[in-house]
Amino acid sequence: MVPKYIGLIVSLISGSAAAESLNVLLYHHVADDTPFSTSTTVADFTAQLDDFVEKGYQIVNLEQAVARIRAGKPLAQKSLALTFDDGFSSVCKNAYPELKKRGMPFTVFVTTDPIDHHYPSYCTWSQLKEMAQNGATIANHTRDHAHLVRGALSEAPWLTRAQDNISQAQQRIENKIGQTSALFAYPYGEYNNTLKQWLDVQGYIAFGQQSGSIGTTSDWQALPRFNAAGHYATPKALKLKITASPLPVDYQQLPDPLTQNTQPDLSVKVLPSKRVYYPHLQCFLNGQAIDVVWNSSQTQFSATPPKPLTQGRHRLNCTAPHRQGTPYYWLSQQWIVVPEALEGNKPTPTG
Ligand SMILES: [Zn+2]
Repeated sequence: MVPKYIGLIVSLISGSAAAESLNVLLYHHVADDTPFSTSTTVADFTAQLDDFVEKGYQIVNLEQAVARIRAGKPLAQKSLALTFDDGFSSVCKNAYPELKKRGMPFTVFVTTDPIDHHYPSYCTWSQLKEMAQNGATIANHTRDHAHLVRGALSEAPWLTRAQDNISQAQQRIENKIGQTSALFAYPYGEYNNTLKQWLDVQGYIAFGQQSGSIGTTSDWQALPRFNAAGHYATPKALKLKITASPLPVDYQQLPDPLTQNTQPDLSVKVLPSKRVYYPHLQCFLNGQAIDVVWNSSQTQFSATPPKPLTQGRHRLNCTAPHRQGTPYYWLSQQWIVVPEALEGNKPTPTG
């Protein structure tokens, strides 16, 4: 009889161990002549794909992989999923041939109005349909790429407007592609709890743009993705992200990102773990390290902006290493700071 520990050692060193988590990469343009921060050059993109294969990653169908993890079933091997937001023409022209050649599935979250208006910087419906027949999932990113929740604390009809925006895009994709998925990506990664709840009732799985890894305790309407563009476009820069694991936390308990508080507190209860080295947990607000305060039993930490945040979007990333160094465990919280609506200044609903 083979002692149990041998099987454990084999699975640890073989790299083919079943994976309990999934990392999703986020791209916008795959081109050499588009804005740096949202672009991955064709050379970096192909280098990434080759690197994933070399490191033993399987590129998986996003919807199926998320469904497995949500059902508590590990993935067969370490896996990554690739997503492209907006439906820019460079994805059809440059990324698609490389993905097709390698037989890799991928998801394109499309904004339908610019495609309907034949904007030249976007893919056409016929290009998207061809990709859908060759490994792509064409999924919902609204009709017009609106900031869906910015008015949620001050404008009465914001929710109906957001719901219509999403439902109409879904209908359009179904009409043009002939199939739809249950996947949705928030424009700018911006969401709040009310919109999340509606998407859940409608059966959507939804993605933000905050960093992190997906596991059994994820929030299925606020799933994280790692940006693979700009400064993160090279295989070297992506190394710690493709190996990342989720910080063991109940993600559905995280606070609503939409706030009028300019110094919102992120307070997180961590789950016990034999792997995560919590004493080395660090938090970075918009890239700058900020103080982390633990309660006396070391089961809950909080991180508060040291000075007031400006209006708009801010990201707080917290990471802790494995007890043996790597991988890193991630948690990210986005804050969307909106102005306080003065009673007399509230816009009148116009329908
Ligand atoms: Zn977008």
